[in-house]
Amino acid sequence: MSNSKFDKEFQKGLAFREKGKYRDALKSLKKAMDIDDKNPEVWFQFAEIMTILGKDIEAMKFYWLIKGTPGKEGLDPDNINAWINEANILMKHELYKEAGKVYEAMLERFPDNIIAVRGKEEASYELANVKYCTSCGKRLGKNEKFCLKCGKSI
Ligand SMILES: [Zn+2]
Repeated sequence: MSNSKFDKEFQKGLAFREKGKYRDALKSLKKAMDIDDKNPEVWFQFAEIMTILGKDIEAMKFYWLIKGTPGKEGLDPDNINAWINEANILMKHELYKEAGKVYEAMLERFPDNIIAVRGKEEASYELANVKYCTSCGKRLGKNEKFCLKCGKSI
């Protein structure tokens, strides 16, 4: 099977991304996916653009397919950037426990990787410093000036 049509769409997608034309990039990458729906490089590009556009949940699903999830092997588990990006999304959303688990799994696959080592430390630090509302017990976000549940000033 010739992959020239696939390559053409993939390259078009990369070029659009380079120029910041993310919607066009996604369109081309989708066309590439229609030709080959099991190419982790296309998924990775797609996921990164989703992240740029703030669609973290959609991006996450692709990172799971690429790197795998506990009990389910991914299509390209050695793509370290998929691991890093997933952990970054979890950290961004203050899901420190989940991020810590990703960094731990990352260290099993990439021993001594400095990003995973530091990420794991950062996640544990943040997790230890999570604050709760003294009035209602709701977990507080880092930059919240008042409790979003009960309104207590922090
Ligand atoms: Zn409260």
